[in-house]
Amino acid sequence: MKDNNCIFCKIANGEIPSKTLYEDERFRVILDLGPATKGHALILPKEHYANLYDLPEEYAGDAMKLAKKMVTKITDKLGCEGFNLVQNNGDLAGQTVFHFHLHMIPRYQADRQTIGWKPQEVSQEELEEIKNQIIG
Ligand code: AMP
Ligand code: ZN
Repeated sequence: MKDNNCIFCKIANGEIPSKTLYEDERFRVILDLGPATKGHALILPKEHYANLYDLPEEYAGDAMKLAKKMVTKITDKLGCEGFNLVQNNGDLAGQTVFHFHLHMIPRYQADRQTIGWKPQEVSQEELEEIKNQIIG
Protein backbone atom coordinates (compact mmCIF):
# COMPACT_ATOMS: atom_id res chain seq x y z
CA MET A 1 0.00 0.00 0.00
CA LYS A 2 1.13 3.52 -0.79
CA ASP A 3 -0.08 6.68 0.87
CA ASN A 4 -0.79 9.46 -1.65
CA ASN A 5 0.06 12.14 0.87
CA CYS A 6 3.38 10.62 1.89
CA ILE A 7 6.58 12.14 0.51
CA PHE A 8 8.64 9.05 1.30
CA CYS A 9 6.17 6.86 -0.63
CA LYS A 10 6.77 9.12 -3.63
CA ILE A 11 10.56 9.12 -3.18
CA ALA A 12 10.77 5.38 -2.53
CA ASN A 13 8.77 4.65 -5.68
CA GLY A 14 10.69 7.10 -7.85
CA GLU A 15 7.89 9.66 -8.35
CA ILE A 16 10.06 12.30 -6.70
CA PRO A 17 13.76 12.21 -7.61
CA SER A 18 16.31 11.50 -4.92
CA LYS A 19 19.99 10.74 -4.62
CA THR A 20 19.56 6.99 -4.72
CA LEU A 21 22.41 4.78 -3.51
CA TYR A 22 20.62 1.46 -3.89
CA GLU A 23 17.25 0.06 -4.97
CA ASP A 24 15.56 -3.34 -5.05
CA GLU A 25 11.92 -4.52 -5.14
CA ARG A 26 11.31 -3.64 -1.51
CA PHE A 27 13.63 -0.79 -0.60
CA ARG A 28 15.28 2.38 -1.80
CA VAL A 29 18.30 3.86 -0.05
CA ILE A 30 18.71 7.63 -0.46
CA LEU A 31 20.91 10.42 0.80
CA ASP A 32 19.23 12.50 3.48
CA LEU A 33 18.49 16.10 2.37
CA GLY A 34 19.41 17.46 5.78
CA PRO A 35 22.37 15.28 6.66
CA ALA A 36 23.88 15.03 10.12
CA THR A 37 27.19 14.17 8.45
CA LYS A 38 28.57 13.47 4.98
CA GLY A 39 26.90 10.33 3.61
CA HIS A 40 23.89 10.31 5.97
CA ALA A 41 21.51 7.92 4.23
CA LEU A 42 18.01 6.57 4.75
CA ILE A 43 16.58 3.13 4.04
CA LEU A 44 12.97 3.45 2.87
CA PRO A 45 10.57 0.57 2.20
CA LYS A 46 8.61 1.09 -1.02
CA GLU A 47 5.37 0.19 0.75
CA HIS A 48 3.93 2.61 3.25
CA TYR A 49 4.50 1.58 6.87
CA ALA A 50 4.32 4.46 9.30
CA ASN A 51 6.82 3.11 11.80
CA LEU A 52 8.47 0.02 13.28
CA TYR A 53 5.20 -1.06 14.90
CA ASP A 54 3.58 -1.33 11.47
CA LEU A 55 6.59 -2.74 9.61
CA PRO A 56 6.24 -6.47 8.85
CA GLU A 57 8.90 -8.63 10.48
CA GLU A 58 10.46 -9.74 7.21
CA TYR A 59 10.93 -6.09 6.20
CA ALA A 60 12.57 -5.39 9.54
CA GLY A 61 15.03 -8.24 9.03
CA ASP A 62 15.79 -7.23 5.45
CA ALA A 63 16.22 -3.57 6.43
CA MET A 64 18.90 -4.52 8.96
CA LYS A 65 20.70 -6.75 6.45
CA LEU A 66 20.61 -3.92 3.93
CA ALA A 67 21.92 -1.52 6.58
CA LYS A 68 24.92 -3.79 7.11
CA LYS A 69 25.66 -3.81 3.38
CA MET A 70 25.27 -0.05 3.00
CA VAL A 71 27.29 0.76 6.13
CA THR A 72 30.12 -1.41 4.86
CA LYS A 73 30.02 0.23 1.43
CA ILE A 74 29.77 3.81 2.73
CA THR A 75 32.61 3.20 5.19
CA ASP A 76 34.74 1.83 2.39
CA LYS A 77 33.97 4.71 0.00
CA LEU A 78 33.87 7.69 2.36
CA GLY A 79 36.38 6.57 4.94
CA CYS A 80 34.23 7.31 7.97
CA GLU A 81 35.37 5.95 11.31
CA GLY A 82 32.11 4.91 12.90
CA PHE A 83 28.38 4.75 12.26
CA ASN A 84 25.13 5.39 14.08
CA LEU A 85 21.91 3.67 13.10
CA VAL A 86 18.93 5.71 14.24
CA GLN A 87 15.28 4.90 13.83
CA ASN A 88 12.65 7.20 15.31
CA ASN A 89 9.08 6.11 16.08
CA GLY A 90 6.48 8.70 16.97
CA ASP A 91 6.45 12.45 17.43
CA LEU A 92 7.82 12.23 20.92
CA ALA A 93 10.78 10.19 19.72
CA GLY A 94 11.63 12.77 17.05
CA GLN A 95 9.97 11.18 14.04
CA THR A 96 9.05 13.88 11.54
CA VAL A 97 8.24 11.81 8.44
CA PHE A 98 5.70 9.12 9.23
CA HIS A 99 6.90 6.50 6.79
CA PHE A 100 9.35 4.03 8.33
CA HIS A 101 12.97 4.90 7.68
CA LEU A 102 16.28 3.81 9.10
CA HIS A 103 18.96 6.48 9.38
CA MET A 104 22.54 5.47 8.68
CA ILE A 105 24.84 8.21 9.92
CA PRO A 106 28.56 7.99 9.20
CA ARG A 107 30.77 9.39 11.95
CA TYR A 108 34.00 11.26 11.47
CA GLN A 109 36.66 12.59 13.76
CA ALA A 110 35.53 16.13 14.74
CA ASP A 111 32.15 15.90 12.99
CA ARG A 112 30.73 17.85 15.97
CA GLN A 113 27.50 15.86 16.03
CA THR A 114 25.98 14.42 19.17
CA ILE A 115 23.63 11.51 18.90
CA GLY A 116 22.75 10.21 22.29
CA TRP A 117 21.09 10.61 25.65
CA LYS A 118 21.89 11.61 29.20
CA PRO A 119 22.21 8.44 31.29
CA GLN A 120 19.88 8.43 34.31
CA GLU A 121 20.53 6.74 37.64
CA VAL A 122 18.60 3.57 38.33
CA SER A 123 18.71 1.08 41.22
CA GLN A 124 18.90 -2.68 40.92
CA GLU A 125 15.36 -2.82 42.39
CA GLU A 126 14.02 -0.50 39.74
CA LEU A 127 15.75 -2.49 37.00
CA GLU A 128 14.22 -5.69 38.41
CA GLU A 129 10.75 -4.09 38.46
CA ILE A 130 11.10 -2.87 34.89
CA LYS A 131 12.36 -6.25 33.74
CA ASN A 132 9.30 -7.88 35.31
CA GLN A 133 6.98 -5.30 33.75
CA ILE A 134 8.38 -6.13 30.33
CA ILE A 135 8.70 -9.89 30.51
CA GLY A 136 6.29 -10.70 33.32
P1 AMP B 1 12.91 11.60 11.21
O1 AMP B 1 13.07 12.85 12.04
O2 AMP B 1 13.54 10.39 11.84
O3 AMP B 1 11.48 11.39 10.80
O4 AMP B 1 13.79 11.86 9.92
C1 AMP B 1 13.31 12.43 8.76
C2 AMP B 1 14.54 12.66 7.90
O5 AMP B 1 14.11 12.80 6.57
C3 AMP B 1 15.34 13.91 8.24
O6 AMP B 1 16.68 13.54 8.49
C4 AMP B 1 15.20 14.78 7.00
O7 AMP B 1 16.37 15.51 6.72
C5 AMP B 1 14.92 13.76 5.94
N1 AMP B 1 14.15 14.24 4.79
C6 AMP B 1 12.97 14.90 4.82
N2 AMP B 1 12.53 15.13 3.56
C7 AMP B 1 13.43 14.56 2.73
C8 AMP B 1 13.55 14.45 1.32
N3 AMP B 1 12.64 14.99 0.50
N4 AMP B 1 14.63 13.81 0.82
C9 AMP B 1 15.57 13.29 1.63
N5 AMP B 1 15.51 13.35 2.97
C10 AMP B 1 14.47 13.99 3.51
ZN1 ZN C 1 4.74 6.44 2.80
